[in-house]
Amino acid sequence: LMRESYLNEKDVGFKQIKQDLGHVVVVGGQGKLGQLFSQMLVLSGYKVKSLDKNDWQDAAAIFDGAGLVIVTVPINVTCEVIREKLTQLPEHCILADLTSIKEAPLAAMLAAHKGPVVGLHPMFGPDVGSLAKQVVVVCHGRDQEAYQWLLQQIEIWGARIVEAEAERHDKAMQLVQAMRHFSTFVYGVNLCKEEADIGNLLQFSSPIYRLELAMVGRLFAQDPELYADIIFAQPGSQLAISDYLDNYRDALTMLQTGNRQAFVEQFQRVAKWFGDFAPQFQHESRAMLQSVNDMKAD
Ligand code: NAD
Repeated sequence: LMRESYLNEKDVGFKQIKQDLGHVVVVGGQGKLGQLFSQMLVLSGYKVKSLDKNDWQDAAAIFDGAGLVIVTVPINVTCEVIREKLTQLPEHCILADLTSIKEAPLAAMLAAHKGPVVGLHPMFGPDVGSLAKQVVVVCHGRDQEAYQWLLQQIEIWGARIVEAEAERHDKAMQLVQAMRHFSTFVYGVNLCKEEADIGNLLQFSSPIYRLELAMVGRLFAQDPELYADIIFAQPGSQLAISDYLDNYRDALTMLQTGNRQAFVEQFQRVAKWFGDFAPQFQHESRAMLQSVNDMKAD
């Protein structure tokens, strides 16, 4: 019901928190996330101008009078764009970005601009129907009071604001995004190389496997560039991923040496480490599996 009410709001518009802003400039405004945020801002009554890669000759005019500049260009050019092109913004203009990594872009923004700065990471893709219950991570930069309204505006769209320190955010993303997407990628590579018959697998599949296969398969319905960006953006991700490989190899050794007892002991150790989360996850997934079962198109 909540999801529906936000969807309706998306049709008719949202409450505008900041009335006297001037306009918003979205750098990378023709991109997927740029378009989504532009749309949300327009639906909330803001005037939005796009500045994409072929528009830099008009930059001075586009930035003139801007109250908010949002950078949402590919990760690998983000810091360069900030350093080279965003040093002459109006003094009181808020400079924000939507990049999936936070430490380097935030540092670049703080160096390029003297006014308010905030780093945002929407933890969702452009294919979400609404922002209801989605998470936006916020890394504070400078002059929080000046951009507080923006966080409120994002909450009006239905999203939850989660504050994080940039370095810790990036570290978490190595596990939550880079390592996870990478192992999903390898899972897909493996199915492909083994020439698995997906239709056949689905016939044998219980709801839990169908859900897992859907999680893997959906990766390959999306943009490889985005995932390459996320996986390759941070050198530290290589460590997280090779740790995973080490653990995998150790577990494989248990299997190859027939060390069933070691498997059981390690299982118990991990279960203990998960603590109350393990039964909580079991409970949560039961409800999800029930709905997967209900919608199963066999
Ligand atoms: P995208 O490729 O769809 O859009 C990027 C846009 O930037 C394009 O329109 C491109 O023309 C433009 N651009 C490239 N170089 C430019 C330049 N020098 N100056 C101005 N514009 C330039 O990418 P996207 O998926 O919208 O991602 C944009 C940002 O959002 C990235 O930092 C990404 O990490 C972040 N992000 C994306 C997602 C997602 O699921 N797509 C989720 C969270 C965060």
